[in-house]
Amino acid sequence: MEKEEAEKYIQAGQIAKKVVSKAKKDIKVGQKLLEIALNIEKSVKILGEGKANHAFPVNLSINENAAHFTPGTGCDLVLKESDVLKVDLGTHVDGFICDTAFTLNFDNSHAKMIEATELALEEALKIAADKTEIGKIGTVIEKAIKGKGFNPIQNLSGHGLGKYEAHASPSIPNIASGSTKKLEEGNAYALEPFATDGEGYVREGMQSEIFALEKPVLVRNVYARKMLEVIVEEYQTLPFALRWLEEKLKLPEFQRKVAIRELLKAKAIRGFPILHEQPGKIVTQTEKSFILFDGKATVLC
Ligand code: MN
Ligand code: MN
Repeated sequence: MEKEEAEKYIQAGQIAKKVVSKAKKDIKVGQKLLEIALNIEKSVKILGEGKANHAFPVNLSINENAAHFTPGTGCDLVLKESDVLKVDLGTHVDGFICDTAFTLNFDNSHAKMIEATELALEEALKIAADKTEIGKIGTVIEKAIKGKGFNPIQNLSGHGLGKYEAHASPSIPNIASGSTKKLEEGNAYALEPFATDGEGYVREGMQSEIFALEKPVLVRNVYARKMLEVIVEEYQTLPFALRWLEEKLKLPEFQRKVAIRELLKAKAIRGFPILHEQPGKIVTQTEKSFILFDGKATVLC
């Protein structure tokens, strides 16, 4: 990693920090999730001052939903006091990404589960350094979460961060995997412990609101072609929300659906289905990104 790249990571982190503290102040019970998402995405643009942009759509997963939910244009879900809301957002400066998340629960009925992921992340960051074994990070995370009486989610992981790549290798499991693979100086990573009162395993739902480019292939449908052009031009390999495309393309719903279906079939794009625990269970998450640069770990946000 060049010094210039490290500076861009740090800048992405500083902007993410501002976005997070604004979101923590602004989010209120009774607000529509769509309004929360639009506000956060707007504040990335404003606080980014033209230097930073979203790395992916803000994820606002509630209760048993662990990840990959972002409200669509027609979504009228409203935040309730008892909801457990995971706010997961990413900023990037020239493709250098800061990925960060926190959990809100206004009636504090799940405060202990939130503390579990906060503690797990804190403990994991203490040992994150050049040559730290990935298995050791998982061990620390699992121990902290189980120590609070919850289960870590075994099939959700931290990960590397690459240029314009929100989920790069390696995968960093939230359990004692025994992996002897090591963190390396010069790389960027995100750690994101998830805790649950469920079994600790998420499944894919039917619905996807978030997609990403796989490879730009030739498609016949004129709307699909136009959509692919916008995706390649605007988002490159970074994930995007269906509602972003709606806003950009202004296609009637039918054509839009046909276009998405075509692009999925041609494997030009892929969807990120909502990941959920069992109904009635709760999931919490805390995430921070860091770089290993100049012989030390620098937490971005
Ligand atoms: Mn994230
Ligand atoms: Mn992440």
